[in-house]
Amino acid sequence: MDYATDRANIWHPYASAVTPPPVLGASASDGACIVLDDGTRLIDGISSWWCAAHGHSSPAVVQAIQSQASKLPHVMFAGFTHKPAMELAERLNQLMPSGLNRYFYADSGSIAVECALKMAIQYQSAVGHLHRCRIAALKGGYHGDTLGAMSVSDPGGMHRIFRGVLPEQFFAERPACRFDGDWADADFASMESLLDRHSDELAAVIVEPIFQGANAMWFYHPEYLRKLRAACTERGILLIFDEIATGFGRTGRLFASEYAGVQPDIMTIGKALTAGTISLAVAAASDRVAAPIQAFLHGPTFMANPLACAAACASLDLLSSYDWKSEVNRIESRLKANLASCRTCANVRDVRVLGAIGALEVDRIPDPETTRKIVLETGVWLRPYDHFIYTMPPFVTDDAALDRIASAMRILADAV
Ligand SMILES: *Cc1c(COP(=O)(O)O)cnc(C)c1O
Repeated sequence: MDYATDRANIWHPYASAVTPPPVLGASASDGACIVLDDGTRLIDGISSWWCAAHGHSSPAVVQAIQSQASKLPHVMFAGFTHKPAMELAERLNQLMPSGLNRYFYADSGSIAVECALKMAIQYQSAVGHLHRCRIAALKGGYHGDTLGAMSVSDPGGMHRIFRGVLPEQFFAERPACRFDGDWADADFASMESLLDRHSDELAAVIVEPIFQGANAMWFYHPEYLRKLRAACTERGILLIFDEIATGFGRTGRLFASEYAGVQPDIMTIGKALTAGTISLAVAAASDRVAAPIQAFLHGPTFMANPLACAAACASLDLLSSYDWKSEVNRIESRLKANLASCRTCANVRDVRVLGAIGALEVDRIPDPETTRKIVLETGVWLRPYDHFIYTMPPFVTDDAALDRIASAMRILADAV
């Protein structure tokens, strides 16, 4: 197949339109694999940007979308409701941390983050704190690509060119204590002093709990979240957990915040919510946050799209139908064993594994052409970026495939 039209007209993520990096033509997917136009099967080492958690094209999820499409593909959500939206809420009631049961259905993760920030600001305004309209976040964080979400993502990261137009937020140092290392109180000092200095301007703090994903690939100590919860409560600042990447088992717990045993006031979920089939995310708030907000000022055209809600219902049924925890534990042990040898690799600075996430922090990554060659030779789809060669495989990835993923990561690390 010739991809001339793609090159002539179609923009790809984080890419130039006129001199794009190479792309592969995908025609099908199943289980842990993506099938290319020429029939080549690639093991999807990154779950299609972390969303195909239970494998690709799960029959039950595809069937739910098809069946819903034949009845009600969409209806506006102002003035209407529908069964898939309510059935999804019932499932979320079973899964979400208790008390986080007011769901705003957003059309993507970034939009769920926008909604979470807007909820926090509207809440503060409704309870009389009109000046509390700024947000604190962590260096090394990532919360999406829309303007509000960029404003709370790592200020030195990929979005820095927008700095002049983004709302100015406050950033604390990245938590330095490792997830499985010793806790030191000094690790919270930067956040604590920021909260002290700005408490009368702050509506909320937003963090990715335990795992800073796209901008850091970093696992930090659960004690940080317990300190943060207490500090926010003391100062009347809302706490937002962005579990879009970490939710639904990825780190070994249903939600990563369970490692700390604390709950946020607002939580965002997305990515694996629909098992990698269709875009949907949720901003969930507690009653305390929701109650004072007279009219929440957000309403996307495709809000609560019935196809997406039906996919999410089927995906959550799938999640509760198998022992995902043992699968994630199995993946964690296998990745730990397999990636340990990468520590001796000259290009590798650090090796980090938690749950079904394995990351090599490297000095340099191979160029796109070399990466493409290695992907096709190894039959493993990986997408190194910045200083990271990482995997987040679907939970259904078997041991043989995990071994191939780890070996492809090693080859990529050695290729510079
Ligand atoms: C991917 C991601 C987002 C953005 O979600 P999109 O669906 O890509 O808009 C937000 N927060 C975190 C933590 C993410 O990993």
